[in-house]
Amino acid sequence: MSGAVKIKGWCPGALRPMMSGDGLIVRIRPPAGRLDQRQTAGIAALADRFGNGIIDLSNRANVQLRGIAKNRYEALIDGLRSLGLIDPDRVVESRRNILVTPFRSADDASGVIAAQLSSMLARPDAPDVSAKFGYAVDLGAKPVLQDAPGDVRLERAADGTLLLCAAGYFLGKPVSHDTAVPQMLSLARWSLEHGTRMSRILDKGTPLPDGFDIARQSVASVPEPGIYPAGVLVATAFGQLDAATLSDIAGLGALRVTPWRMLLIEGATSLPRRASLICSPADPMLRVMACIGAPGCTQGHAGTRDLARDLAKHVPVGQTLHVSGCAKGCAFPRAANFTMTATSAGFDLIRDGTADATPEHTGLSARDLPDFLKKVH
Ligand code: SF4
Repeated sequence: MSGAVKIKGWCPGALRPMMSGDGLIVRIRPPAGRLDQRQTAGIAALADRFGNGIIDLSNRANVQLRGIAKNRYEALIDGLRSLGLIDPDRVVESRRNILVTPFRSADDASGVIAAQLSSMLARPDAPDVSAKFGYAVDLGAKPVLQDAPGDVRLERAADGTLLLCAAGYFLGKPVSHDTAVPQMLSLARWSLEHGTRMSRILDKGTPLPDGFDIARQSVASVPEPGIYPAGVLVATAFGQLDAATLSDIAGLGALRVTPWRMLLIEGATSLPRRASLICSPADPMLRVMACIGAPGCTQGHAGTRDLARDLAKHVPVGQTLHVSGCAKGCAFPRAANFTMTATSAGFDLIRDGTADATPEHTGLSARDLPDFLKKVH
């Protein structure tokens, strides 16, 4: 079995950095999931100047700077504050956990509602939920964030009605543009009264308040890189990019940050020709996920990304491989077709499970994994 992991129980932010094997991690929550060109260029410059120049995209659509030395942290925060990317305090930062569909249009209200929600969450009387509690504003014609984290959600029914939704429940409650944000906050307060995270409350059989009786649309698949009406969606290997690449992308347009470790370049109409960006849905690197692993993470038992890169070509089309530095499974908290979890005694292989699930094989060496993967699928 995979070894025990340290669960920290909180998420890093910009005002609450986390120490890792390569220095402090500083996580930025782009307002309403968007960075204008000045902000993007500014982040790239700050990552280069104060960190190790590595930028991660998280599965909560945050942008994470790595390798920040303790004595350079305050200067970095001053720089981010001048870009409008720092909340007034840690409490507000922690509460402002909002995903917004990258496919929003000017007239679907996603941006307006996300801004209203942000401002309400900054008030002292906002629900004092846990740092992992989140909101999703997903008001395109079809929802796209259903597989992404978010306890309280806003979507459209098939006929366009705005629906207040709870994570994991198949019916929603009709709301209007005016009542959407108050109703989201009211559902967050209800969640707080009944436990913490919505899915755990509903798993226990606790019924939602009255009014959840309209069928939600069900759209499960993650969008592929390509050209969309809102712009061009591009991916990066493991959701990681360097400062030079981010600086380059800043010149192409404003960015909408997604929970799929992809960026939507707002208003772009053609695929950028950049070796560091994944633009083809057929690229095998889209089939593999891997955390930073050792030595970047102190909990990692082995390196992960070079191994995942080597294994990508062996992963069948339509399937996924997760290589995890430990059983915490940060890069992909859900079940992959194949998961290889590093332990103190080699790699565990798990089929159709998460990184901490019971393995089918244990103690595998990294050298043997390509042949092993070819045999098992
Ligand atoms: S899964 Fe990876 S990043 Fe997360 S704690 Fe383990 S080694 Fe670190």
